[in-house]
Amino acid sequence: MQAIVIGGGVMGLSSAYFLRTSGWAVTVLEKGDYTDNCSYGNAGYVCPSHFIPLATPGIIQQGLKWMANPSSPFYVEPRFNWPLIKWALTFSKSATAEKVAAAAVPLRDIALFSQQTYLDWKQEGIEMSYEAKGLLEYFQTAEKEAHAHHTAEQAHALGLRAEVLTAAQVRAMEPQTTLELKGALYFNDDAHIYPPKLMRSLREKLTAMGVQLLANEEATGFEKKGDKITAVKTATKQFAADAVVLAAGSWSRELAKAASLDIPLVGGRGYSITMENSSNKLNHPAVLMEGRVAITPMDGNKIRFGGTMEITATDQPPRLKRVEGIISAVKRYLPEFVIPMPTVDKLWYGFRPCSADGLPYIGRNPKYGNMVLATGHAMVGLSLGAGTGKLVAELLNGEKPSVDLNPYNPARFD
Ligand SMILES: Cc1cc2nc3c(=O)[nH]c(=O)nc-3n(C[C@H](O)[C@H](O)[C@H](O)COP(=O)(O)OP(=O)(O)OC[C@H]3O[C@@H](n4cnc5c(N)ncnc54)[C@H](O)[C@@H]3O)c2cc1C
Repeated sequence: MQAIVIGGGVMGLSSAYFLRTSGWAVTVLEKGDYTDNCSYGNAGYVCPSHFIPLATPGIIQQGLKWMANPSSPFYVEPRFNWPLIKWALTFSKSATAEKVAAAAVPLRDIALFSQQTYLDWKQEGIEMSYEAKGLLEYFQTAEKEAHAHHTAEQAHALGLRAEVLTAAQVRAMEPQTTLELKGALYFNDDAHIYPPKLMRSLREKLTAMGVQLLANEEATGFEKKGDKITAVKTATKQFAADAVVLAAGSWSRELAKAASLDIPLVGGRGYSITMENSSNKLNHPAVLMEGRVAITPMDGNKIRFGGTMEITATDQPPRLKRVEGIISAVKRYLPEFVIPMPTVDKLWYGFRPCSADGLPYIGRNPKYGNMVLATGHAMVGLSLGAGTGKLVAELLNGEKPSVDLNPYNPARFD
């Protein structure tokens, strides 16, 4: 049985891994060359703590306020584009307290499942520099402190460990630099990895397992017969398929449409800066709550700063003001840190595939049942990557999925 996986990000490679392990012949089609995509430059959090989806009450008002500031952490490029308008309308309908509460258990379950899958991979020799040090969310204002207490209570109700720490407690955990903060919310159960190491190691493993990893092959459409997809088309070739996994990240919407499924999905650009052997030192990953920046000390000698959510077309040039916004936010919390502004050619950015409610699209295409979607993971795609691939294989093997997939039904907005 032949599976064609579209996309060589963490979703595509993870799906390829579990399909091959369960006996499928697997070919991955990647329009790039497997050396960069959103799965490489992210902050590396494997984070059951992220049980609150992107679409939350108040985010639209906050986003509108931020729109006028070119260095703010959130931006929607105004353009008349029907898929964007549909996504925005669906997003605003999803941003309710009831929907956020309903998403918490599914997000916890899939995140814990995926974290365990990363640990299994580690046992099998897949390298990723996994570290179980938890995650600190620094706050500077009374408003975010109150929010931290509320989130800690929600975490406890979900059975996750979380504690609100004083500034003195955080300083004791991070004695290598000066911290400007009121305190932090500590999620003890989170972990982090070094994403480029994971991606390289996965590629090597897949090649050794006999998976065909084809570069510069852009899927453009499908051959169909009845309720099945029979082949994936590229500009010059056709790849016969018994099953298709659609894991094309922020480019998945157009391909889903070509298979008669409408998934609201936009690219949310984020930027990151990685420094090696720098004097900026932290022991634990940290999120700057007011600044919306993620900082991760990773892989021994590296530290990565990432942030912004810029809803924009994927062919738009980077906006350097946003990167300046990341650097100045870091300075407000960590005044001794020095981060040189990267030149455009050295700047990393990637597009998070953002669904309209912050929950991924994982499941069968109802029109063509041999196509499974694995996309839309927004801010938690790395965290959920290993688990999503396993769920894709379970579905295509006709097994009961390890996690209830109903909340992730790709046709929920169709
Ligand atoms: C700054 C930043 C920080 C982040 N931090 C975290 C974090 O700490 N933890 C976390 O869990 N998540 C994080 N994320 C999100 C995470 O990186 C993404 O959710 C995840 O990488 C998405 O993986 P993917 O495989 O769906 O997409 P991608 O990694 O984008 O891969 C999709 C691939 O499909 C290919 N493709 C597209 N169209 C086609 C086609 N037609 N034919 C063939 N190939 C195609 C693309 O070239 C690409 O290689 C962060 C993101 C950013 C930007």
